[in-house]
Amino acid sequence: MDVCFSAFDKDGDGFLNLEEFDDICKGLFRNDHGIVYSLDNDKLEHLFKIFDTKKDGLIDRQEFSTCWNKWIKTIIKPKNVFLIIDVQNDFISGTLNISNCSARQNGLDVIKPINQLLDTVNFDSVVYSYDWHPIDHISFIENLPLRKIDSSSPITAENAKLFDTVVFECCPKIKQRLWPKHCIKDSWGAQLYKDLKVVDNAMKIYKGTVSDVDSYSVFWDNKKLSETSLSNQLDKLNITDVYICGLAYDICVGASAEDALSIGYRTILIDDCCKGVDVDDITKTKQSIIKKHGVVVQSNEVKAMVDGRDRRPELGYKLAIELEKSLNNIH
Ligand SMILES: [Zn+2]
Repeated sequence: MDVCFSAFDKDGDGFLNLEEFDDICKGLFRNDHGIVYSLDNDKLEHLFKIFDTKKDGLIDRQEFSTCWNKWIKTIIKPKNVFLIIDVQNDFISGTLNISNCSARQNGLDVIKPINQLLDTVNFDSVVYSYDWHPIDHISFIENLPLRKIDSSSPITAENAKLFDTVVFECCPKIKQRLWPKHCIKDSWGAQLYKDLKVVDNAMKIYKGTVSDVDSYSVFWDNKKLSETSLSNQLDKLNITDVYICGLAYDICVGASAEDALSIGYRTILIDDCCKGVDVDDITKTKQSIIKKHGVVVQSNEVKAMVDGRDRRPELGYKLAIELEKSLNNIH
């Protein structure tokens, strides 16, 4: 750390000014093909202010030690989890085969690039999620007669069609999109697709296991009533970076990425390892993730990122704004 500080403190005054901090960022945010990623001035100044905790316009050695230990170290050596969402039979060739949805994408197309990543990239942890429903689950259109539709619902029980969204009366009111019966726990449809590689020591997370609330995200149910054990387990492993892929892009993958960002993880969507339901919703999913300082990449970019050789400024910025929250709590 001291060597780094002294190397960047070009004028040797014992402090880093904004220009010297900019040089650190130029050294950090680059890839191993010599590309230096640009960081706009607003973001650079915001980063500087986050680490200039005494607000005197300079970063001293003490402030730099926080910057080094909590920020630079993670950027250079992230701890990575690979989250593979719902690559199950029903979404590929079963009752909720996504190729029948408007985007006409084929779930089978994710298998090869996901297996390739599992074979070639050294993730610290791998997680497979399962949509895992009881037979009376709220999301099944076949179960409409089991629950009362609220008077505020734009669609009545008589008019409801597949993929419509209704409002159930229940406790509290709950909005629900209607899907065909799928991923019944322990059934063939809920098994992972046979050609998907399953690595040893992977974590398995089951979601949507309660009858009266659906769960698109692998972290929380749709009403945020209950949490899976995932973030707890990732915390124990000191995971910093979450790589997300699977099915369906604009439903469960998107919801999981949104939750990963809101929990505070540096979040990376692997575009060619995701297939979805609706083209416009897929576009909106990507835009939302980028707006919240996540990144969307192709699978051939992942290995260098996981190895810390390709370091994206968006992810550095995301980590810094999370640190800002905890530093503000201390001061
Ligand atoms: Zn489901």
